[in-house]
Amino acid sequence: MESRIANDSSTGQADRSAPADAVRHSAHGTTFTIPEGAPPAFHLLAKPTGAICNLDCAYCFFLDKEVFYPGSKFRMSDDVLEAYIRQLIESHRTDSVNIAWQGGEPTLMGLDFYRRVMVLVEKYRRPGMRFLHTMQTNGTLLDDEWCAFLKEHDFLIGISIDGPRELHDIYRVDKGGKPTFDKVMRGLRLLQKHGVDFNVLTTVNRVNADYPLEVYRFLRDEVGTTWMQFIPVVERINADGLTLFQEGATVSERSVLPAQFGEFLSTIFDEWVFHDVGKVYVQTFEAALRNWLGMGASGMCVFNETCGTGLAIEHNGDLYACDHFVEPNFFLGNIQQQHMIELVASPQQVKFGQDKRDTLPRYCLECDVRFACHGECPKNRFIETPDGEPGLNYLCAGFKDFFHHVDFAMKLMAGLIRRGREAREVTPILQKSFAQVERNDPCPCGSGRKFKQCHGRQKAQVGRKALPAPQSRTQSNRHA
Ligand code: SF4
Ligand code: SF4
Repeated sequence: MESRIANDSSTGQADRSAPADAVRHSAHGTTFTIPEGAPPAFHLLAKPTGAICNLDCAYCFFLDKEVFYPGSKFRMSDDVLEAYIRQLIESHRTDSVNIAWQGGEPTLMGLDFYRRVMVLVEKYRRPGMRFLHTMQTNGTLLDDEWCAFLKEHDFLIGISIDGPRELHDIYRVDKGGKPTFDKVMRGLRLLQKHGVDFNVLTTVNRVNADYPLEVYRFLRDEVGTTWMQFIPVVERINADGLTLFQEGATVSERSVLPAQFGEFLSTIFDEWVFHDVGKVYVQTFEAALRNWLGMGASGMCVFNETCGTGLAIEHNGDLYACDHFVEPNFFLGNIQQQHMIELVASPQQVKFGQDKRDTLPRYCLECDVRFACHGECPKNRFIETPDGEPGLNYLCAGFKDFFHHVDFAMKLMAGLIRRGREAREVTPILQKSFAQVERNDPCPCGSGRKFKQCHGRQKAQVGRKALPAPQSRTQSNRHA
């Protein structure tokens, strides 16, 4: 979860260029070195139950990771927890620290685990420090006691939901293959009842990607959220047919298609830009606007030039380069053997982050929307460019279409903000630009397409295709 942008300048990604001297520190009886060039802050997703979850979502990339820890109980011990909280605080040279829990399903640890977290934070905090507690959860285990705790400690909760029932229940099922929509909505309503701040995370797959307005309007109008993340499902098929590693050049049938993802984002953007700017925050649009403003950090690692400051920590203290690269080649070390900041600032991790920029194919280097896309995430770079160079992003065609589609409105919003005005003033400007345009006229955005194929198209979307019958595509087989 990242910050809510259009009117907010925080980034969620630390600035690796901030200076740090290689200094030996002593705190709470331990000695460690803050290496030269270490980031002053970073984002670490903690997985206290490892890959263990009470659900069995068909596309989940993390459930298979269980095989990396044979015989484990998959519960973060008190010793690892204390080392984690202490080192996280020691590693930060900023006043603000994000403590982020994810899974697997982090609520499986039980409330007492998080009560201990609060005690440890009080034990190790420095004067003036502020903590943002976040948790990504499927929401199905929440109850009144949980929600009261989350409210008391001002948690920001991310709830995973894939749209209305017919779309959510296709892949988000429990261990018996049963639908989970009602349980998730129950958790959401409990969060709302207790006034807990929450966002939604929607994974965009081959099925729900055909229903952009149904998904968006459901989240906005029925769930009642004002902050949404849309994450593309891209599952690479490994040589053994599984999806354990970021290897292989083919994708599962659940994976969203490139053009489909571009159309999904563009259609929601049109709805948003005409109705919801300043009221609803869509993470991808916020990141794009930051890049159109040339802010340097978009708030989403995938759309930054480099990455490497968004890491993951397993239940036993093993630290990995990124949540999407919890696999042996990207293992940095264990925090019980080496201090976290030394691992975060290690040459291996710095190279991991810089490779995002340094391995871009020429096709990306010459791309007119590279400033917004930056080749997206390296995990998705497994196709060839038109001239045969490897390393192009599988979703390239969709991102190109999307960034071209939003260019006109982004330029307008960026211009408004630079003049000290508000992004939401874009709506009447666009309405005026498009008011007299006929369906077959060129689109005023300058795309060269007919209006009906460009910014005039969203009117034809709703009801175009009936939602699938409940659970019509549910699969208990998690592999492609
Ligand atoms: S590998 Fe991808 S998801 Fe991981 S930090 Fe880099 S851009 Fe972000
Ligand atoms: S749109 Fe395609 S070519 Fe352009 S930067 Fe992104 S992945 Fe590269």
